[in-house]
Amino acid sequence: ADARERYTAARPNSAAAHVRAKAVMPGGNTRTTLFYTPFPTAMAGGEGCHLTDIDGHRYLDLCGEYTAGLFGHSDPRIIAALEAAIARGLSLASVGEREAQFAEILCARFPSVERIRFTNSGTEANLMAIAAARGFTGREGILAMQGGYHGGVLTFVTGANPVNAPFPVTLAPYNDIDGTLSVIREKAGTLAAILLEPMMGSGGCIPATRDFLAALRAAATEHNIVLIFDEVMTSRHTLGGLQKLHGITPDLTTLGKYVAGGMSFGAFGGRADIMAMYEPGRLTHAGTFNNNVLSMSAGITAMGDIFDDSAAEALRARGDALRDALNATCAKHGASMQFTGIGSMIQPHFRLGDIIRPYVPSPAEEGLRELFFLDMMSAGIYIARRGMVALSLPVGESESAQYVAAVDPFCAARKPLL
Ligand code: PLP
Repeated sequence: ADARERYTAARPNSAAAHVRAKAVMPGGNTRTTLFYTPFPTAMAGGEGCHLTDIDGHRYLDLCGEYTAGLFGHSDPRIIAALEAAIARGLSLASVGEREAQFAEILCARFPSVERIRFTNSGTEANLMAIAAARGFTGREGILAMQGGYHGGVLTFVTGANPVNAPFPVTLAPYNDIDGTLSVIREKAGTLAAILLEPMMGSGGCIPATRDFLAALRAAATEHNIVLIFDEVMTSRHTLGGLQKLHGITPDLTTLGKYVAGGMSFGAFGGRADIMAMYEPGRLTHAGTFNNNVLSMSAGITAMGDIFDDSAAEALRARGDALRDALNATCAKHGASMQFTGIGSMIQPHFRLGDIIRPYVPSPAEEGLRELFFLDMMSAGIYIARRGMVALSLPVGESESAQYVAAVDPFCAARKPLL
């Protein structure tokens, strides 16, 4: 309660902004993820890996727009690409050369992606990939993972957040090979697609084991089910996504978040024979802004010029080193806390033991999660309310050290309570 009061007292402008917003938007926001009690901090602007809120506080931005902010704020190369695009005109109502150029870059990076299509969001990319799988197989059923998140209308998180999908979905337990294979066997004749994140992002930065992914790959092949990897968050981990790290090739891949340099973006792609469902006269894939010139132009610069192999490898190494340092801090204080994830995606959990699938946090864990967030905010470090960190390229060693230094006293103070 003290931490909440301090949070509120320091943010009169954010409090007022929330009251104003509530009068015209349900709950005062237009993105469910961004709401938390007592009210969310409203940001005024950002530069590099720093943010400033509307009450004038400056933060180290480790939220990284939930992985979409990979390039930090205002990278001059991306700004230049956007300015050049603006000067040539917006909303041209035609195909252009830019989308083919961007598609070439992405197809070259992801060997499993032989053909690709663009959307405005990761959600749409998943919906379109599912439609392709259904058309291709002539079946309706979709298998997803308990606790998976593929967009606001493709949410399979249990607990406080209800399952939300526009069609029936069969759910299976993540990282449970026998459990999932038995569901697949039972439903095989009706399944069009298996959709999963190769590491759960929103579900808690919980990596799939390679064995689990390999078992799904084999089962999908055996039963002619389309295997879709949602790499909307995880594609950042190598030049060719998490699939490259594991050496496992899905039939379709969905992308989003950072790929268009921070502009709105989604894409789905994969095997040419499946993607042929979208050739003229077959399935419709419409979308006024699918090839919007700002996303295409920023994306060409972001993926073609900036986020190359060495940038991806260095980012992953920086994230792994930070996670190790955070876990060493937990161990030093004997705190019942750990940080999971891969590379630049890092999630705190307020429990010990292996975490192999999403879980509903206990009220005590929920309380610690809020306290952790509020402590980080008062230390000038902006993380997702649920605790997730997604490092951006401008985050260097000194910023990582700043985070570890803020986590240290939290772990020390929690020790007697846990
Ligand atoms: N898939 C995953 C794994 C995600 O984490 C998200 C968003 O957080 C989405 C899909 C949906 O992307 P968007 O928010 O762009 O619709």
